[in-house]
Amino acid sequence: MNKETATAPFGALHHVTAFAADPARNLDFYGRVLGLRLVKLTVNFDDPGTYHLYYGDEVGSPGTIMTFFPVPGLPRGFRGAGQATQTGFSVPPASMAFWRNRLAMVGVPHGDAGPRFGAEVIALEDPDGLGIELVADGKAASRPGFAQGDVPAEHAIRGFFGMTLQVHDASRTAAVLVNLLGYAPGVEQNGRLRFAALREDDAPGAVVDLVETPDADRGEDGAGTVHHIAFRAPDVAAQEALRRRIAAAGHRVTPILDRQYFRSIYFREPNGVLFEVASDPPGFAVDEPAEAIGERLMLPAWLEPQRRQIERALPSLEGRSAFETQRVA
Ligand code: ZN
Repeated sequence: MNKETATAPFGALHHVTAFAADPARNLDFYGRVLGLRLVKLTVNFDDPGTYHLYYGDEVGSPGTIMTFFPVPGLPRGFRGAGQATQTGFSVPPASMAFWRNRLAMVGVPHGDAGPRFGAEVIALEDPDGLGIELVADGKAASRPGFAQGDVPAEHAIRGFFGMTLQVHDASRTAAVLVNLLGYAPGVEQNGRLRFAALREDDAPGAVVDLVETPDADRGEDGAGTVHHIAFRAPDVAAQEALRRRIAAAGHRVTPILDRQYFRSIYFREPNGVLFEVASDPPGFAVDEPAEAIGERLMLPAWLEPQRRQIERALPSLEGRSAFETQRVA
């Protein structure tokens, strides 16, 4: 192992970005039902009429960040090959009964998708049909969740467990994960190829599962589908070094782009899933106090002059809850 890979662990998720159709309903589900913190309230920088909502743990740590572009009235997408089809969150094994009970109490249909690699898995969908899994994770309890939310701290989601990608040819995605992104070779069980990040910390989101479906229809973007998944780079220097290796491996990769809360590069892996590599710094406290993140609409400097028009045009985030989201202990 060379010095670069020894000191710069890439593997593990940074964030996941998906589409939704109703911002108020999205906030109700992720903020209240799942108990995540809204860690940044902003707009799509390329389309300031659309929110960009970021959820996470208390500070929005890398590996806990789920983001949405909620576009009112956006038609549903189709989950299929070439997509991240399930987003897995970690919960402590002792909290699985709590979550089954909570989902039943608030009226969210759910079922068991496990045991998988020996762990219990609760499967559910968000209000747009996005595939969500709550995975019993022995490492979850060692990480903080969001303690001030609607879910008691001991049961709170502790960031991502990992993602499931549906692909036509697993070997081609496997090569990207292992050769470029810092994952150990896959381990197969029940038709599922599991890749674990080669990192020594207990970072959330360290797992990628590939499910190979050679004949499946390709997925289509729309509400209820994941747009891209982002892996971590410890800093911009490491990101630039990785960018050169991705390009040298024959992938079309973007320049480093400033996303305000991290720097990003994007490339499409060979089965069509859009991959991003995002830098850990600077994080969500770069433009507002850490204790107040997510409370007011934040705009990048170049959009500030249009703040009044933007605020007037954005839909309300207040809405009647679709769920009985009183605190269920
Ligand atoms: Zn992203």
